[in-house]
Amino acid sequence: MKQLRENIQKVRQRIERAALRSGRNGSDILLVAVSKTADIAQVHEAYQLGIKHFGENRVQELKRKMEALPEAEWHMIGRLQTNKVKDIVGKVTLLHSLDRWKLAEKLNERAAVQGVTVPALLQVNIAGEEKKAGVEMSDVEAFLSAVGELSALRIYGLMTIAPLLEDAEAARPIFRELYQVKEKLARKSYKNVELKFLSMGMSQDFEVAIEEGANIVRIGSAIFDQKDSPMY
Ligand SMILES: *Cc1c(COP(=O)(O)O)cnc(C)c1O
Repeated sequence: MKQLRENIQKVRQRIERAALRSGRNGSDILLVAVSKTADIAQVHEAYQLGIKHFGENRVQELKRKMEALPEAEWHMIGRLQTNKVKDIVGKVTLLHSLDRWKLAEKLNERAAVQGVTVPALLQVNIAGEEKKAGVEMSDVEAFLSAVGELSALRIYGLMTIAPLLEDAEAARPIFRELYQVKEKLARKSYKNVELKFLSMGMSQDFEVAIEEGANIVRIGSAIFDQKDSPMY
């Protein structure tokens, strides 16, 4: 508990300072605690320590933890198979990982049946990495235009995962580029689209991401790891 409390305090301080460097406040940044390595007891503790938003990258684990802590806000941040959409529609606060058209269609179908809408972020493969999920930069505009056809889907922003680099600074151009794309597209009007969120930054690079305009960060190890990391 002590370690978790310290980790959360440190992360919050670092978010606050990075926000100030970008002309904002810590309260402008939504912290999503990625609990994929945490057990349910730790998730409960984190909730008691003031963390209200949690992220999971696998549906099974997400379901298990949502049931254990339904009062928290849950985010799906990992690749979602189309046959699992029923597990998240109407249940999660935000899907960060809408990464392909087929998935958009399946989510829309399911949500329409349930009479709900699905809040999602469009995942962009900004570094153009071959193995990485996400819509290619060149396809983002076409995707957003087409979302107008899917009446039960809502796109509230963009998300990216920066490549794992030795140095967080190396990810800065990627974050900056996605911010610029988001700002540019936010000035246009697409049906069912309201680009207000930018989900980027993880334990190793969240300060750089915030400096470059992120307003949602997804942080796992810096919160839930037991050992002190040399980064502190
Ligand atoms: C695990 C994960 C994170 C958090 O990573 P940490 O390095 O532990 O902070 C963020 N986003 C996604 C999509 C993840 O799978």
